[in-house]
Amino acid sequence: MPSTPPSSASTPSTARPGFSRRGFVIAGAGGLAGAALAAGAARAQGGAQGSAQDTTGATPAVPTQPSARPMPMLERPLPEPRGKRLGWALVGLGKFTLGEILPAFGDCRLSAPVALVSGSPDKARDIGARYGIRALYGYQDFDRIRDDPAIDVVYVILPNAMHAEYAIRALRAGKHVFCEKPMAVSVEECERMIRAAEDAGRRLGVAYRAHFEPHNVRALEMLRAGEIGTLRRFESMHGRPLDPSEPADQWRAKRALAGGGSLYDIGIYALNAARMFTGEEPTEVSASIHTPPGDPRFAEVEDLVSFRLRFPSGVIADCSSSYSIQEQKNYQLYGTKGALRLDPATDYHRNTLMLKAEKREVQIQAEPASLQFSREIDGFSEAVASGREHRTPGEDGLRDVRLMQAIYRSAREGRPVKA
Ligand code: NAD
Repeated sequence: MPSTPPSSASTPSTARPGFSRRGFVIAGAGGLAGAALAAGAARAQGGAQGSAQDTTGATPAVPTQPSARPMPMLERPLPEPRGKRLGWALVGLGKFTLGEILPAFGDCRLSAPVALVSGSPDKARDIGARYGIRALYGYQDFDRIRDDPAIDVVYVILPNAMHAEYAIRALRAGKHVFCEKPMAVSVEECERMIRAAEDAGRRLGVAYRAHFEPHNVRALEMLRAGEIGTLRRFESMHGRPLDPSEPADQWRAKRALAGGGSLYDIGIYALNAARMFTGEEPTEVSASIHTPPGDPRFAEVEDLVSFRLRFPSGVIADCSSSYSIQEQKNYQLYGTKGALRLDPATDYHRNTLMLKAEKREVQIQAEPASLQFSREIDGFSEAVASGREHRTPGEDGLRDVRLMQAIYRSAREGRPVKA
């Protein structure tokens, strides 16, 4: 990440929250906002030992007054000054936004949250007060963001079927868009989003956090350095029980809002990782799906999906996703000289990386997994500001949606299909 400030950052018209890192509030940071943002830094710092991913959906804890102790040795560069960070508007104040994304801005150098978009004005006011964010929008008046020069980027964190509409509205309002995975529920929606970005001359990125997660990044570096020889096989299992008592799982059980079941929600991590590690696009997909009959959770969406991807180099990826097993988020890469195992690979806070080579097993140390969120947010800000390529642009999201459709088609037709 270059240390140069983002040159195209617009000058904010509304006050941006102060910045803190590692519990210290930098000059200019304001009381509550600075303290709240410190939560992100504290989480990142303790991430490797921290608790499992936040499944409570609760508002992040606001620490007590920041310490007045002298500045410690900083491990990473200081954030850019307030006016030089890109302003981000967050659309949707659900479990993921509150549990992971808002706190992560505390560790961002190039990005600041400046606006919230929610269907619940009271919730938006409460969260806004905690984070020092004054610009609040509803879904109806969302298009007013056009007149808010403090907003550079709109981050869409809504149920999957709403991604395309809000991304396109944001692009038409002249904003860059960062969109949660899966990019949208159909190929046609993804294509419309990409066209809208081209028409508006704005950037469109998809939030594939594994590309920025330290253990994943390290594994990719080790693979490229030849530490396990030539990659031959990739395996991954992603699963968790779908819980109808959880509001965030209620829309996931509805096809019209989710687009699909376990594949669309978590199988996509395996699919995207297989493409990331091979650096190739699969040529053939074969799949089978099993959904237990009579389980009301699966009235509209699938449970178990097993899919195989064949890559031009000969690598075969065997991946599964399920909404009825206990939590699994792993992958294994088998090479001619050894193997890499990440288990978990795609947790929010607790990933691990193990190298297994001839006669040795080494646990690889990487930075805390929780840094993945601030890294992906800053990664997009950096791409926007510099005009440089982004690691996970809209085209990447489109490829995954197209492949997921091919996986469904293969399962339906009971035969391998061309990817
Ligand atoms: P959530 O249900 O907690 O949040 C969804 C938000 O959308 C809520 O604030 C809800 O009020 C709002 N909303 C607006 N209209 C709605 C409607 N018609 N039905 C339901 N909710 C509506 O869900 P979440 O877990 O935060 O997921 C949101 C998005 O983030 C999804 O696209 C999901 O795939 C993605 N996500 C990504 C990750 C990741 O690791 N990258 C993790 C979790 C979720």
